[in-house]
Amino acid sequence: MIDIKDLHKSFGEAEVLKGIDLNVEKGEVVVIIGPSGSGKSTLLRCMNYLEVPTGGQVLVDGMDLQSADINKIRSEIGMVFQRFNLFPHMTVLDNIVLAPMKVRSITRSEAEKEAMDLLTRVGLANKAQSYPTQLSGGQQQRVAIARALAMKPKVMLFDEPTSALDPEMVGEVLDVMRSLAKDGMTMVVVTHEMGFAREVGTRLLFVDDGKIIEQGIPKDVFEAPQEDRTKLFLSKVL
Ligand code: ADP
Ligand code: MG
Repeated sequence: MIDIKDLHKSFGEAEVLKGIDLNVEKGEVVVIIGPSGSGKSTLLRCMNYLEVPTGGQVLVDGMDLQSADINKIRSEIGMVFQRFNLFPHMTVLDNIVLAPMKVRSITRSEAEKEAMDLLTRVGLANKAQSYPTQLSGGQQQRVAIARALAMKPKVMLFDEPTSALDPEMVGEVLDVMRSLAKDGMTMVVVTHEMGFAREVGTRLLFVDDGKIIEQGIPKDVFEAPQEDRTKLFLSKVL
């Protein structure tokens, strides 16, 4: 589903990604961990061309992002950020139907029907007519996930989706992500939630200084990290 070859990204003189090779199979849940500033967000953002690589290649479902239509890319790759980024002046329902009506050219009534199904899936059907500010952080993040799903993406990217939430709301968002994974969605997740990584991740990547230092089945990496840098990082977070 995702095929990354020798990906490099620099901002000016600073090389942030230093040659990343990564294949993600359909239905995989790849969890990325690593220190702050190591390039995790940049890697994720290169996967949907929010950042343009300075070298290498990114293919998603066979399309080379360099030559593909940016709107097609954005519709096939859903992204959820740390901050929910909902449109504050629009109801929850309108937040969700906006993009599919524009990009997938479906009618409002079709889009609303799909949106209600998605809101049911994330447990918020009763909030369709609410405005984002009337919702808790956890509820807003669940709406943001529903909004991304409304484009019927082939891949979902999550960049620290629970980092901005109060602790009591983390679980409800992880539950939605867990059920998505169970339904077979291909996912790449940057997170500090090690329990989620271990339980839901099919593969764990440890990224440091713009490189994949180590990867494997989460349980194996947690229990028997091979690289000193992985050991040091895990000793701080576990
Ligand atoms: P992480 O998500 O692992 O914390 P990032 O990918 O956000 O790391 O950032 C990696 C490095 O790239 C950091 O040093 C950051 O300051 C730098 N960086 C990220 N985005 C930009 C940008 N738009 N312009 C300049 N530097 C950036
Ligand atoms: Mg980041």
